[in-house]
Amino acid sequence: MIIAPTVKQLSTVLEHAKQNSQVVGFVPTMGALHQGHASLIQQAKLQCDFVVCSIFVNPTQFNNQADLVNYPKTEKQDQQLLSKTGCDLLFMPSTEAIYPNNYFGKTFNFGSLETVMEGKHRPGHFAGVAAVVNRLFDIITPDFAFFGEKDYQQLLIVKELAKNNHPNTKIVPVPIVREKDGLAMSSRNLRLSEPFRKESTILYHTLLQCKNWLGKHSIKTIKEKVVDIFEDSNLELEYFEIANANTLNILSDKDEKANCRAFIAAYAGKIRLIDNISLS
Ligand code: AMP
Repeated sequence: MIIAPTVKQLSTVLEHAKQNSQVVGFVPTMGALHQGHASLIQQAKLQCDFVVCSIFVNPTQFNNQADLVNYPKTEKQDQQLLSKTGCDLLFMPSTEAIYPNNYFGKTFNFGSLETVMEGKHRPGHFAGVAAVVNRLFDIITPDFAFFGEKDYQQLLIVKELAKNNHPNTKIVPVPIVREKDGLAMSSRNLRLSEPFRKESTILYHTLLQCKNWLGKHSIKTIKEKVVDIFEDSNLELEYFEIANANTLNILSDKDEKANCRAFIAAYAGKIRLIDNISLS
């Protein structure tokens, strides 16, 4: 695996790959890699000739400074996981390379996609995500880019960004990879204390219950049940919503329930966890 810390080194290798008509796949990450990230690389390997992964802890998408400062870093293990999974090139840019002279690039408007759930509770988060993805797409110009359904709202925003600004890059969704007990894999799980780690399975189990409840109970009742579950736990529920899987319009009882997903965010102590599930 080639490691490119600068845009120049990356561009030289990519030029060569493109001259040889290789299909380029791209997997952006913030490091502290786990099997969820590995599944994105594996999917990219299936569809592409040359796979680029980036590790960049993007400061503009953190609305909470402590979360940025404490974001886990496991550089050596990350490189081992990537080489083992068959990644061809690891791009590890500096902040200056991504945001030269502190310029964050143009601003985007994703309409209602960015005003609900994560957008509502993490002000500025999606502006930061869009800034970094746009910049990385400009530098790499991938044929395919792979994003996890774990961050489902991000996936829809990136699809919109690509449609309007990078029409030659196809966004490929990859299913959520979970621990054996159902907890969605996340870099932040490394920071969970043992008791919170055990209790964090409540997010996934609540989502699974929701699958059974929809059709039997009203959305209002389901939301009350979810609040009750969390009140009996040590986790703090931030939001629980059922939304249309394409538009993210939050559903109420009078809305059509076909093609919807349930979304949840909760705090386990200081660690914020998110998860979602298809209800269709
Ligand atoms: P991150 O490093 O957390 O910014 O994530 C980089 C990419 O990996 C994003 O597209 C995430 O949605 C994806 N990802 C993170 N965790 C998982 C998971 N458990 N399953 C599938 N994809 C994931």
